[in-house]
Amino acid sequence: MYDVAAPAVETVAVDVLKEVLSHQRRLRDGGCAGEVCPRCVRHHLEAVRRAMASGRRIEFVLPAFPTKSPNPAKVLGPLPDLAEELALRFLDGLCERIARIYPPGAVILICSDGRVFNDLLGVGDENVTGYVRALDRMITRIGATRLEQFTLDEVHPGAGHEDMRAMLSAGHAPTLEELREEVRGGGAPLAMYRGITRFMLEDLSTPDYTGTRSALQRRCRQLAYRVIQRSRAWGNLLDELFPDAVRLSIHPQPCATDKIGILLADTPDAWLTPWHGVAVASGGRFTLMKRADAERAGATLAYVGGRPSFYALEPAGTGGSAPAAAHREPLEGAACA
Ligand SMILES: [Zn+2]
Repeated sequence: MYDVAAPAVETVAVDVLKEVLSHQRRLRDGGCAGEVCPRCVRHHLEAVRRAMASGRRIEFVLPAFPTKSPNPAKVLGPLPDLAEELALRFLDGLCERIARIYPPGAVILICSDGRVFNDLLGVGDENVTGYVRALDRMITRIGATRLEQFTLDEVHPGAGHEDMRAMLSAGHAPTLEELREEVRGGGAPLAMYRGITRFMLEDLSTPDYTGTRSALQRRCRQLAYRVIQRSRAWGNLLDELFPDAVRLSIHPQPCATDKIGILLADTPDAWLTPWHGVAVASGGRFTLMKRADAERAGATLAYVGGRPSFYALEPAGTGGSAPAAAHREPLEGAACA
């Protein structure tokens, strides 16, 4: 068992949190201050210190990587691609850096929440299954030994997917009225509601949608509450199942609250995630864009292992494709278009 001398525990725990919080995704006007927010460090210190006192790995729980957006204007298809791979490498690298500070290291439990609300997005259960399995294969292939997946399927083995969702909601969801009350109060809940509504609107504005824009907006506002309701139920269940874990979130969070908002990739849009976009190689680095935006900017599609994987955008005047040196490894052997 790794034994940190008592006076050193505090220092090491602070260093671990500084590493995590250097990638913090903050809510605008959420109260965080400085490059690494000292109030957030203090708030999460006890959970990290507890893990260290027992000499075990620090466990992070991250509800994320649900399923690809159903809108082909945003993504390349239903399966994970280089956008997910870059995010997984980033998260595994974060745990590796933590292990240099605290040798027992850390693990991020990716609690894929696709099964929790895919029906509300109009995404089939078979797509969720395919996405989760492909993500597992990707984690193995890239050697991300500090990442693990956990899904609703494992909570109710053998149950039907509809039944799983019903059991989750029955035991752990707040009522819609409670959520509406929270959103009416403004702040972080309102920002979350607006963000989810925007995503629903984008995801459901598929080429085969024939109704009016205002009807779709109405529907998305209702669906957003139900998505938040199910997400909240999933979060509550995860809190019960992993009481000692540090909670991460892909959404920006206010200062010193239960969850640490964390970035997954290098993107100028604080809301864009790998499953809502495509990876675009440009100027020696990768960023995330919506597929239609990448194509409008003149990016060309690149294939890995015979499958569409990312886009390459050549900066004006360079005349040559130059994927980022830092990410050259995953592209080796790729037949780039
Ligand atoms: Zn803070």
